[in-house]
Amino acid sequence: MKLATKYIHAGTEPDPSTGAIMTPIYQTSTYVQEAPGVNKGYEYARSQNPTRKALEDAYAQIENGKFGLAFGSGVAATDAVIKLLEPGDEVIAANDMYGGTYRLFTKIFAKYGIRFTYVDTTDVSNISKALSPATKLIWIETPTNPLMNITDIAAVAAIASAANVLLCVDNTFASPYLQNPLDLGADIVMHSATKYLGGHSDVIQGCLVMNDEALREKLYFIQKSCGAVPGPMDCFLVLRGIKTLHVRMQRHCENGEKVAHYLRNHSKVGKVYWSGFEDHPGYAVASKQMRGFGGMMSFELKDDSVDEAKRVLAATRIFALAESLGGVESLINHPASMTHASIPREERIKNGLSDSLIRLSVGIEDAADLIADLAQAIG
Ligand SMILES: *Cc1c(COP(=O)(O)O)cnc(C)c1O
Repeated sequence: MKLATKYIHAGTEPDPSTGAIMTPIYQTSTYVQEAPGVNKGYEYARSQNPTRKALEDAYAQIENGKFGLAFGSGVAATDAVIKLLEPGDEVIAANDMYGGTYRLFTKIFAKYGIRFTYVDTTDVSNISKALSPATKLIWIETPTNPLMNITDIAAVAAIASAANVLLCVDNTFASPYLQNPLDLGADIVMHSATKYLGGHSDVIQGCLVMNDEALREKLYFIQKSCGAVPGPMDCFLVLRGIKTLHVRMQRHCENGEKVAHYLRNHSKVGKVYWSGFEDHPGYAVASKQMRGFGGMMSFELKDDSVDEAKRVLAATRIFALAESLGGVESLINHPASMTHASIPREERIKNGLSDSLIRLSVGIEDAADLIADLAQAIG
């Protein structure tokens, strides 16, 4: 089935009780049983909910996986994956991933005895070098946030399977429309559905998708035991978002390309980080594993000062100054003081994340209006 057809029909069957074409919002905490232990597969809504079930099936289908699990946020999905581990286990993680992932690893899980090693995963040999007998999980994000670094998923999957280590890929930035890590050998795909999957900046949610049934059982056990499940209304919103994923992503890609080229040719703009540029270090790998380059990018100004960056950030009228990404509207963000503020400055600079870096989530408005907005803001 082609992507457009899949996204519109994923997970949704006419409701068995009424024939409603859209999955109803089953706003219930419990289900009446015919006799003790005799039920219709639903007992208590932390464990099962029909709206969530439809969405979890949709997650599986759009990531070409067998099983999907929905969580109350992207970080709750990440949290569930780390809870597969035991004290003393080691995780090899990317060194410039989402700030909240880094915070969860360093400030929460490290104190329970899980060890994290951060490496530059754009060179996969760094992962091989960091492997030890205690390594149980490799965690990568590609493209990364906000420098659009690209990691070769198939190459990491080969290293992971040879070492008998799980590979989890945070696929939030690409979305399933542009990249499917399970097809490339990953064991688990994680998404912040808050971003492109929801697509309308009106919901917080996360998901995991996998093929292995035993792994699904372990993660389902964590989901229901820890209880970070999304409510049915939020599941309905993401189900609705997925139906237009392909149309939105096509426009994000088109607008992203136009804005990236505009910025690159601007006399006051320094480096532009967008993986669709042929001279981007990750271009060859991105072209191999992605179906397009998306609308996420970041750039530096030639006047490389925080003040100049703040002036531009305050001057845009269509690009709204906000954290998050992947919604229909364009957003502008200052990683150093916003999304990545939880990463120590020294660590940030070392990883190429300068104080003046500006990140854009290019939305699906008219590209000419977006470019005009950046033109007046940069000056
Ligand atoms: C937003 C985001 C997360 C965290 O997801 P939440 O839904 O905010 O909890 C994780 N990874 C990436 C790449 C993100 O952009």
